Amino acid sequence: MTDQSPTAPITQDVLTIPRKLPEGGKVNIVGLTRDQLREALVAAGTPEKQAKMRLGQVWQWLYHWGARDFAAMTNLAKDYRALLAERFEIDLPEVVTRQVSADGTRKYLLRIAGGHEVEMVYIPEENRGTLCVSSQVGCTLTCSFCHTGTQKLVRNLTAGEIVGQLMLARDDLNEWPEPGAPKDETRLISNVVLMGMGEPLYNFENVRDAMKVVMDGEGLSLSRRRITLSTSGVVPEIARTAEEIGCLLAVSFHATTDEVRDRLVPINKRWNIETLLNTLRDYPRLSNSERITFEYVMLKGVNDSDADAKRLVKLIRGIPAKINLIPFNEWPGAPYERSNWERIEAFADIVYKAGYASPIRTPRGEDIMAACGQLKSATERSRRSRAEIAAEAGLT
Ligand code: SAH
Ligand code: SF4
Repeated sequence: MTDQSPTAPITQDVLTIPRKLPEGGKVNIVGLTRDQLREALVAAGTPEKQAKMRLGQVWQWLYHWGARDFAAMTNLAKDYRALLAERFEIDLPEVVTRQVSADGTRKYLLRIAGGHEVEMVYIPEENRGTLCVSSQVGCTLTCSFCHTGTQKLVRNLTAGEIVGQLMLARDDLNEWPEPGAPKDETRLISNVVLMGMGEPLYNFENVRDAMKVVMDGEGLSLSRRRITLSTSGVVPEIARTAEEIGCLLAVSFHATTDEVRDRLVPINKRWNIETLLNTLRDYPRLSNSERITFEYVMLKGVNDSDADAKRLVKLIRGIPAKINLIPFNEWPGAPYERSNWERIEAFADIVYKAGYASPIRTPRGEDIMAACGQLKSATERSRRSRAEIAAEAGLT
């Protein structure tokens, strides 16, 4: 269990791929915010006076109707469509594989620019459907129970690659509206969680811009209350999440003493439990209707005792919260075991009696390694040399 040692680094020795924007190539309009898209349309020759209207039209085609081709934007003049096609592209990640679990969970392996891969998971439930999206290829942090944290190659996703995940899932679920058909209010993808690969608060600007596009009422139109961002505890970015995104917040808490949390979530060595909780107490949007979710992975003999449960409720006292207990999901070589059900239920009971909702998250898609913390793309296995990667990123 060497990777559990208290001296484990907060971040691993990763290979972070810098992003280089294409020069002279077409601009991908997926993931541009309204302001950015407006600017791009004007730079391409759209008269200032028409910019607002054209922006609205293109936006609606792209995000309401799911159009993938400028030629299909039939309320724009032909010449203008040709101009757009010359200057811009509508580029989404490529779906490499799609696996469907016995319980209906779908896991997608997506290839993004540079050939890197990320995973995305769709989880259908009785009265909602949740899309779990990734924010990074891999993760720089080294939580000792998380498969993603063992992947050595990391690159931030662009806003377009994050929005693109939702668009691809809508394609697969056939969820774009049909022109002329009566409005269908049931949404197969009713919720989005930023709980896939990566630490979203280490890619703040791209995540924020992507969520702005996703929340926009003229397009994908998902309300901010249906989006949950999960962080391991990147304290300096937490208040910004409320101010600049406004979505719900989940925190990977997982332990009730600094000694244990240092081992499980090494970012705790940088921002410890007390610092994290003080930040959460000051969370700008905190209210009873917008409680913070404390995620707590149940690891046998590590963090699952009655004493832990009691300490947990004491620690979070005063914070409107719900505690989501996650039975540990195993992955090959994982250094932990899942707590048994009686233990999880006893823990849940103590939390519940203290006045907190304490749902136990049903593991979904375990048979296809799609459950929480099991994601890890094969990018590492096909990993190229540092020189090749540098060449690919245009650094040589
Ligand atoms: N990086 C962010 C979001 C991605 S992880 C974060 O850490 O919050 C999403 C959730 O799955 C986190 O709560 C994480 O701690 C949890 N998780 C990671 N590995 C897990 C595993 N093997 N079993 C169960 N939950 C796990
Ligand atoms: Fe990264 Fe979250 Fe996994 Fe920790 S739990 S390694 S922060 S993805």
